[in-house]
Amino acid sequence: MKDDGKRRGADGEAGASLRGLAAVDEVLREPGVAMLLDSYPRELVVDAVRAVLDRLRREILEQGRRPDADELSAARLAPWVEALVRRATTPSLRRVLNATGVVVHTNLGRAVLPGEAVAAVVAAASGCTDLEYSLARGDRASRQDHVHDVLCTLTGAEDALVVNNNAAAVLLALAATSRGGEVLVARGQLVEIGDSFRIPDILRESGADLVEVGTTNRTYLRDFEKAWTERSRAVLRVHTSNYRIVGFTSEPPLAELAELAHGRGAVLIDDLGSGALADLELFADEPSVRESLAAGADVVTFSGDKMLGGPQAGIAVGRAATIASLRRHPLARALRIDKLDVAALDVVLRLYLDPRAALERIPTLAALAAPLDEVRLRAAALAELLTALGGTIGAEVVPSVARAGAGALPVAELPSAAVAVTVAGLGADELAARLRRGEPAVVGRVQDERLRLDARTLGDDDLGEVAAALRRAVEG
Ligand SMILES: *Cc1c(COP(=O)(O)O)cnc(C)c1O
Repeated sequence: MKDDGKRRGADGEAGASLRGLAAVDEVLREPGVAMLLDSYPRELVVDAVRAVLDRLRREILEQGRRPDADELSAARLAPWVEALVRRATTPSLRRVLNATGVVVHTNLGRAVLPGEAVAAVVAAASGCTDLEYSLARGDRASRQDHVHDVLCTLTGAEDALVVNNNAAAVLLALAATSRGGEVLVARGQLVEIGDSFRIPDILRESGADLVEVGTTNRTYLRDFEKAWTERSRAVLRVHTSNYRIVGFTSEPPLAELAELAHGRGAVLIDDLGSGALADLELFADEPSVRESLAAGADVVTFSGDKMLGGPQAGIAVGRAATIASLRRHPLARALRIDKLDVAALDVVLRLYLDPRAALERIPTLAALAAPLDEVRLRAAALAELLTALGGTIGAEVVPSVARAGAGALPVAELPSAAVAVTVAGLGADELAARLRRGEPAVVGRVQDERLRLDARTLGDDDLGEVAAALRRAVEG
C-alpha cells in the first residue's frame, strides 16, 4: 500500500517532468540544430534529437531525476544534439603521442611502423597491387609469396606462413597438428597473455585436449614421458613472455622435448610470443626463433607487432611438412593476414637483412636500443620547449624507467629520462586528463603528483607537437 502510494506520487512528478520536455520539432528549430541540417542528413539529426530526449526520459522514469523546466527546454538540449551528431560523424581513432615510457604499448596500438613501411601501406591501400597475382605468369598467386622467402632467410626455417596475429598462429598450429588428440603443456606455461588469450581456452577451441604436465615451477622430461598416451599429438612450449618464474625452477631443454616428440611421431610447437629477430643486448635472454628451430621445434610462432616492430601479424615458421599442414587447414583462410599488413611486413622483414639498418630504421628497435645519453638529450630539448612556453609551467628532466611493453621482457628496466611537468594551480591528474583529450592526445604518467613525459618513447619530431599540446591544455 505504502509502496503503491509512493510510486503513484513519483508518477505524478515524473509525469510533470515528461510533459515539460521539449518536442522533437522544437529542438529541430533551435538555431544550432537547424544549422546541422545544412551539413548532415535530416535522419541523422532527428535520430540524435530522439536519442537525447530518450535519455532524459529514462533518467526521469528510471533514475528519478527531476530536471527543472529550463533543463527540459529545446535551447538547453540543442548543444547535446550538436555534440552527439559531431561525435557520430567524427572518426573515433585518434592520434596519440606516447610519453608513457612503454615502448610497445598494447593499448596504444603496439609497434610504430618505419616510414618506408607506412609508405607501402598507403600504396597498397590506395591502389591495386600484385597481392595474389603473379605478374610473371599472369595468373593467380599467394599473398604468402611476398614474405615467405625473407622469413626463411631470417630464421633458417624450411617454410613459413603468416596469419592475422600470433593468437591465430597458435590456434592454427594446434588445430592442424592435434585436433582430436592431446597436447602436452608444462603447468608453469599455461599462461594468460591479456585480453583473454589463455592457452587452455585456445587449446579447447583448436579441438585438442590439454594435458598438464609437471608442477608450476618444476617440470622434467620424465613428466612428459609419463603423461604420454597414444592420443598425444604435440608438445606445446609457451614462452612465459609476460612473467617470470624464478627461484627453484626446472624445465627440460627444448632439444630434449623435440627428441621425445619426434621419437613418438608427434610435433613440438613453440609459441615464442614476441620472437626477437634483432641482435639486441636487451634480447639476450629471450629465446630466438633461429635457436628454437635449431633445437628441433616443428613450428615456431611469434607476433609481428611486438619486439619485431612490424604490423599486426602472426608468423609461423618451421618444418616444411608441418607448415604445409597449417597452410592446408580450413582455418587458415579464416585467419588470413590482411593486405595492408602484408605490405608493411614485406618492408619491415627486409630491413632485418641488414641488422644495422634494422636498428636505425625500425622505431621499436631504435627506442629500445637508444643510449641513455641520447634519451636525456631529447628530454632536455623537450624541457626547454616547455619552459619556453612561459607562464606558470615548470619542466624538469628527471631519471625514469622505461619498459619494453607488449607483455615482453617483463622484468627488463630500460634506464630513461622524463620531463616532470607542473602547472601552477592545475593538479597533475587534471593536466594529464586535458592532454589526453587534446588533438593529438599526449599520454604520460602521473607519479608523485607530477606528470612525467618519458622521452624514450617520444620521437625527436614529436617534441614540438607535445609543447603545442601542453600550451593548449594549459589554456583550457
Ligand atoms: C602476445 C602473445 C601471444 C598473442 O600474440 P598476438 O599477436 O597478440 O595475437 C601469444 N602467445 C604469447 C606467448 C604471447 O606473448
